[in-house]
Amino acid sequence: MSPRVDIYDVTLRDGAQGPGIKFSAEDQIRIVRKLDAFGVHYIEGGQPGSNPKAADLFSRIRDLRLQQAKITAFGSTRHPKSAIEDDPNIKALIEAGTEVVTIFAKTSPRHVTGVLRTSLDHNLQIIDESVAYLRSQGRRVFVDAEHFFDGYAEDSSYALSALECAATAGAEVLILCDTNGGRLPHEIEAATRAVRARLPEVDIGIHAHNDSGCAVANTLAAVSAGAVQVQGTINGYGERTGNANLSTIVPNLQLKMGIPVVSPEQLARVTHLSHLVAELANMAPRDSDPYVGRDSFTHKAGMHADAVRKSKVTYEHIDPTLVGNWTRITVSEMSGRASLLHKASELGVELDGDNAETRRILAHVKELENQGYEFEGADASLELLMRRVKGEHRSFFKLDGFHVTVIQQPSAPSAVSVATILLTLPDGTTKHTVAEGNGPVDALNSALRKALEHTYPELRDVHLEDYKVRIIDAKSATRAKTRVLLGSSDLENSWSTVGVSENILSASYEALVDSIEFKLLRTRGH
Ligand SMILES: [Zn+2]
Repeated sequence: MSPRVDIYDVTLRDGAQGPGIKFSAEDQIRIVRKLDAFGVHYIEGGQPGSNPKAADLFSRIRDLRLQQAKITAFGSTRHPKSAIEDDPNIKALIEAGTEVVTIFAKTSPRHVTGVLRTSLDHNLQIIDESVAYLRSQGRRVFVDAEHFFDGYAEDSSYALSALECAATAGAEVLILCDTNGGRLPHEIEAATRAVRARLPEVDIGIHAHNDSGCAVANTLAAVSAGAVQVQGTINGYGERTGNANLSTIVPNLQLKMGIPVVSPEQLARVTHLSHLVAELANMAPRDSDPYVGRDSFTHKAGMHADAVRKSKVTYEHIDPTLVGNWTRITVSEMSGRASLLHKASELGVELDGDNAETRRILAHVKELENQGYEFEGADASLELLMRRVKGEHRSFFKLDGFHVTVIQQPSAPSAVSVATILLTLPDGTTKHTVAEGNGPVDALNSALRKALEHTYPELRDVHLEDYKVRIIDAKSATRAKTRVLLGSSDLENSWSTVGVSENILSASYEALVDSIEFKLLRTRGH
């Protein structure tokens, strides 16, 4: 078995190409931090040559102090017609300033002649020059062999010589890509073994897409054939049917194949990581996902559940706590306790295992979850909830009412939003403010700030970074509800809050108030 496997995350590039997925600059930073804490070895920051947003990300990432993850820049081999020093893509890769760059190269003759429109020999020369040049600029170079498995089936000798050419020029890892995602495990395993035999000195990686439903299986097949780098995305996000799902692969490598990829503590974060990335991607977490899904260790009450309670090994393939998940027995008040306690200690809230207070909090959380709240991505709201139940919370203001008007005149280019808010401060003073905004939520936020900033000047440091809305079908209600997830930050911290209501403004107001109260609790105590 392989002595080690490195994880190379492509959530920010391949994952962001998934239908309906868009990460804000703030989301990207949050994901980078979480991936680093999870123990990922490489994080692909994106393609600096493709747009200014990607280039900007690299400069922001440079200031992050990551524990172990290395950020990589992604691009292609030089253009067939440009000189290497003048190639804009190669230049952008170097300007990104990363220690590692990953370039994709063509290894399938059909793609070389049909898409790149150059000769097979010229393609080899392009690969050689691109790798050698990046090496000469002091970069470690990984080469993604695009459409490798299709190319190998078409002309194995050419596909292998393209790899050999990259290795000879100094590539450190050759990543075999199933770009169209149509290959099956036995094909992946055979081709990977052939590469291993031909190029025993260089590291091999695997990058699988899921079009045949085998991306995870294909990845594991490549690892058993000698691949030591695994590329994939959290939750398998990616275009079409997605990429290899790291949330499944990492537990499989570690718990089933005995390859230590991350520490046991880090592995126990995979469920949280999966849900957080889902929340930021504005996707509902998939309950049936292996290891991390809400239902992966759920048992229906009755004999089966009773057996699970007596001896977990009878009905569960692993101990769910190893991946930060837990056994749920439906219709049992036990569900969720372990995670709540875990979360509480993470947030610095003291909670006992089994007392009336913990049970009250648990019941409250469950009730809110039924109404459509989701706390995985809203730590600050969860902390406030716990503190409110524990009596460790004071009120900094009381809402007496708000009113928002949106005026759209036929001739005006955009609507004008105005919010009015009335509230009472603890000393009894009432505040009545009016503010305009860039949309109704912004107007409401401005009116609220205007009312509070005089008394609580530290709120001037708080910025809203992110605002996400999802329409949810709450299980206990017949009417659709809106969930708002709000990201805030000040000079040192960032935090997230949640609000749920049938009305988008009420949901937003709730998330705004939690954000403000969280900040005030931090600066003024309870
Ligand atoms: Zn891909």
